[in-house]
Amino acid sequence: MDSHIEEVLWTQDQISARVSELAAEITSDFRAAAAAPPPVFVAVATGAFLFVADLVRKVELPLVVDFVRSDSYGSGTESSGAPAVSLDLKVDVRGRHVVLVEDIVDTGNTLSCLIGHLKSKGASSISVCAFLDKPVRRKVHFQLVGDGKFYRGFECPDYFVVGYGMDYAELYRSLPYIGVLKPEYYT
Ligand code: 5GP
Ligand code: MG
Ligand code: MG
Repeated sequence: MDSHIEEVLWTQDQISARVSELAAEITSDFRAAAAAPPPVFVAVATGAFLFVADLVRKVELPLVVDFVRSDSYGSGTESSGAPAVSLDLKVDVRGRHVVLVEDIVDTGNTLSCLIGHLKSKGASSISVCAFLDKPVRRKVHFQLVGDGKFYRGFECPDYFVVGYGMDYAELYRSLPYIGVLKPEYYT
């Protein structure tokens, strides 16, 4: 699999260091807000599974973890437009602070869809914690809810990246680093 990677953008150590910083920031914000009941970390499956696992182990607060799934991508590298919620929450988020955990924000379609969904379920605040952000690709400006904040790991250049949870056609998620896939592997 390593031979399919053109360039490593963030190594395992760089990822780990940045996740620690994000977790420290979230810990201090939520501690300051004296949030009770505990915040709900809602990870977007499947891409955020490694990020949320690393993040929640470093956040020093009682918290709840749940998953949602939203599909729009299929197996390609371009968003197919309007995403839909295809796996719903188990936890009731009414009156709870929610941190939506994403691997990467691209057009913003997925996040706006999920924020609308969580808002309709009565979350009292919605923050977003995205490991990567490709701001130049944004088409939809998602709106945080209540006193929600936007946490992001790194700004990502406009390449199709894989690893650390992110796939191409369901492959490469288990790579411990984030890299650019050689074009000959996505056709
Ligand atoms: P958006 O709805 O913001 O356009 O796209 C969000 C989703 O598209 C992400 O959660 C991710 O699953 C996928 N995505 C966007 N950019 C990339 C990328 O560079 N690599 C991979 N593997 N997935 C991406
Ligand atoms: Mg995702
Ligand atoms: Mg994908």
